[in-house]
Amino acid sequence: MSVRKRSLLKVIVLGDSGVGKTSLMNQYVHKKFNQQYKATIGADFVTKEIQIEDRLVTLQIWDTAGQERFQSLGVAFYRGADCCVLVYDVNVLKSFDTLDNWHDEFLKQANVSDPQTFPFILLGNKVDIDGGNSRVVSQKKAKEWCASRGNIPYFETSAKEDINVDTAFICVAKTALANE
Ligand code: GDP
Ligand code: MG
Repeated sequence: MSVRKRSLLKVIVLGDSGVGKTSLMNQYVHKKFNQQYKATIGADFVTKEIQIEDRLVTLQIWDTAGQERFQSLGVAFYRGADCCVLVYDVNVLKSFDTLDNWHDEFLKQANVSDPQTFPFILLGNKVDIDGGNSRVVSQKKAKEWCASRGNIPYFETSAKEDINVDTAFICVAKTALANE
């Protein structure tokens, strides 16, 4: 299909330190997974182009450089976001319990025009660990949270095994486009 329209979408990725935000982005954009823990990357964002039907979409995906530990990400990080990807680790209860804070913090800082319809996506990451035997947050619980926050789309992912990573970011693009 030929391209009839181009869009640039700013996507920000939020969640507790260590849940796999940087790894998910690396897997999606560079098809790489790094076992080593590297809290900081140099760039503010990475980009990836995808075609969704007749649109060429440039996803501009913003990562934190470890400042999420102090919850002080600065106004430039949030400004003009088109979609917010929330990430937790299915094996770490605290990372699920803090989703409310990230969600509310985003709405407060990004100052979006309509908080009711703003596109969020939730990712439950690291489903590969121990074949799923060490998970402490059930899919049901995660889906209930999504329902209570206005039907946020939910995906269970592994940045390590490349499970659902492409699917999730395609959903990010589609959801953001639908809200344009
Ligand atoms: P961030 O602080 O949220 O950016 O988390 P990182 O992407 O830096 O990941 C933290 C640690 O978890 C690193 O050691 C990663 O290699 C590891 N990690 C990230 N995603 C996964 C995953 O899907 N499965 C497993 N087993 N480890 C992961
Ligand atoms: Mg990181």
